[in-house]
Amino acid sequence: MNFKNPPSVLLITVDCLRPDHLGCYGYSRPTSPCIDDIAKRSAVFTQAISQGTYTVSSLTTMATSSYLFEHYLSENVLGVELNPSIPTLAEIFKKNGYDTAFFGPWMAANIKDFNRGFDAFDLGTMGLSRYFFGGLKRLTSGRYDPGSAEALTSKAIRWMQKKSGKPFFLWLHYFDAHAPYRPRPPYNRMFVGDGLGTGQGRKPFVASRFLGAGGIPRFISERGISDVDHYIAKYDGAIRYVDGQIGRLSSFLKKRGLYENSAIALTSDHAEYLGEHDLYFCHGGLPLDTLIRVPLIIKPPAGAPEGALTIDRQVQSLDITPTLLGIAGIKHSTPFKGQDISCVFRGEKLADDTGVFFWARHIAALRTPAFKLILLDRDRIIARLGSARSAKPTQRSRKWKTVFPFQLEYLYKEGIPASIFYDLANDGAEVSPKIDRPQEAEGLYPALNDWKGRVSELRGGPSEHFSREVREKLKSLGYIQ
Ligand SMILES: [Zn+2]
Repeated sequence: MNFKNPPSVLLITVDCLRPDHLGCYGYSRPTSPCIDDIAKRSAVFTQAISQGTYTVSSLTTMATSSYLFEHYLSENVLGVELNPSIPTLAEIFKKNGYDTAFFGPWMAANIKDFNRGFDAFDLGTMGLSRYFFGGLKRLTSGRYDPGSAEALTSKAIRWMQKKSGKPFFLWLHYFDAHAPYRPRPPYNRMFVGDGLGTGQGRKPFVASRFLGAGGIPRFISERGISDVDHYIAKYDGAIRYVDGQIGRLSSFLKKRGLYENSAIALTSDHAEYLGEHDLYFCHGGLPLDTLIRVPLIIKPPAGAPEGALTIDRQVQSLDITPTLLGIAGIKHSTPFKGQDISCVFRGEKLADDTGVFFWARHIAALRTPAFKLILLDRDRIIARLGSARSAKPTQRSRKWKTVFPFQLEYLYKEGIPASIFYDLANDGAEVSPKIDRPQEAEGLYPALNDWKGRVSELRGGPSEHFSREVREKLKSLGYIQ
């Protein structure tokens, strides 16, 4: 896009936010009046797919438009450095004359060098616990500060107040919709007992394990309450609390005359299990749709068409960096893996959807609108499971790293499969997985392997995801259009 005055750009990420719990995506509870207000002037993407199921991996993908195996941060592990050869969104904005700031929770401290390119980088009071497990301990002990979204917003507003008129890139990451869902009053009780719960009467046991497999994690549970709806109401209250803070940001921008000429993108790093697949109030692990379908709302700056747009084509978190740069009219030569989708604001159609790929440590996957194939490195997963069992309980980091294998072991009690296939067109809830090379998935294996072989040289989004040969083959099999 071309502008006389380059627009400021806000990226708002809300941890654990599910699209189907927002008004603008059709939710019945009034969780999001302020987000809905932004959505009225935005493109609302109904099929936005996150690359990560953990905070760290997902935020890093957003910041670099690179795959998990490239930026090195595939899970919430300590001490892994962000790949120094990959430029970040903030660095590119900075190079192009923007002031840059990030305000977020302690979790971002886990990404070494995530502050690259930011003039201001503030992890708040939670940032004092510099290392992840210090933060986790506070979270699980219930000492999480319920006022953090408010403090974060105040800091962001103070930062904007001091600015002299130069365009800025501001990234806020709100953590308050993350378990244990303890927003301050009145949000903590706002939706409790209103009869609008979506837990379908589920009452699993109150689990003692952190994972949330088969039961409610102990650190979330209240006086042994096992009604899932109770906790969903708390989760929704936390969303409403964050929504109010996003409203504060919008009001500030409007008062300053900055709202019109600012681009605002709102999304989530991953969603949250609220009982699907018998997993409760947790995330991480397999890229199942419950987790990887996230909200994506992009308000363009003035000059773009008025009114809301609904875009049903599959897009991904890899697209956020090139799109925000495209909206700001910034030219660059970085070989991003995502695609600039800002053409939708010029009334143009996006190219055909040929699928979203994942590749993390022990997992590779391909998702098309109709199918999903997940390949698992079974031997390495089983080896990790074994070493986790023998780890001493005091070795917290090892315990954390085993969440993924434990989840797989829980979901697949008969044995961890080497591949999992979902027919999304007929099984959108992914309740009927087919394991280990079912007939109908046969054509997808070469596609995924072809992509793995070529991915390092790819750039520019889905049109280059397949070699011409594989593309034709997939078309003939009906996997893609
Ligand atoms: Zn997260």
